[in-house]
Amino acid sequence: MKFYAIIVAGGSGKRMQTAVAKQFLLLNEKPVMMHTLQAFHFSEVQPEIIVVLSKDDHDYWKELCQKYNFNIPHTLVEGGKERFHSVRNGLMSIKEDGVVAIHDAVRPVVNTSLITSTFKHALEVGNAIPVVKPSDSVREIEATGSKILNRDKLVLIQTPQTFDLGQLRIAYQQSFSPIFTDDASVVEAAGFPINLVEGNRNNIKITFPEDLELASFLMKNNIPG
Ligand code: C5P
Repeated sequence: MKFYAIIVAGGSGKRMQTAVAKQFLLLNEKPVMMHTLQAFHFSEVQPEIIVVLSKDDHDYWKELCQKYNFNIPHTLVEGGKERFHSVRNGLMSIKEDGVVAIHDAVRPVVNTSLITSTFKHALEVGNAIPVVKPSDSVREIEATGSKILNRDKLVLIQTPQTFDLGQLRIAYQQSFSPIFTDDASVVEAAGFPINLVEGNRNNIKITFPEDLELASFLMKNNIPG
């Protein structure tokens, strides 16, 4: 059985309002996505790593790898217009069958046991999607106001989302739809049941500047994400 990880870093990261895309910002003296690749490389399944980066960032990433003496083996693939297209480009670079984890480059705190757990479940049932329960109350905005939702019926979705490659290839034959905000939504639209597994509250997605401080604290104190 072959194991793969597609690390998507094709976005420009407008919400951080920084000149440098968030996957390249320094986290404990090293670019964010180097931590992410390390988490997968040193995980139990040791997947073959595919990094999806905007074409404009390829040379910059290669420079960073030299500067930081970073030599974890990986294949570099061009990003696409939306996350969907970036994942599809990564998927097209895989020729064999097996299991693939798709992970946001900007979730560097992800821990080995979560990675292993998603591969294990995907092997058994076809896919595994990590989730956490919301701790805040949640409201839905409507035309005339808003209404409370039952948070016990809601979950927040994380990555790595891990799939049998046959299943993912069928799903990614669909055309892009704006409702495809993650890979589970693509696979679900193709008719496959989605299997939820327990994620980790500390597996944060670096989106806003303060997230970087939190990620730094978690990693320095060996708190698993
Ligand atoms: O847009 P969002 O913050 O949800 O992005 C999640 C992940 O998808 C990020 O790691 C980002 O780099 C990646 N992405 C991508 N290609 C795009 C847009 C986003 O690989 N066109």
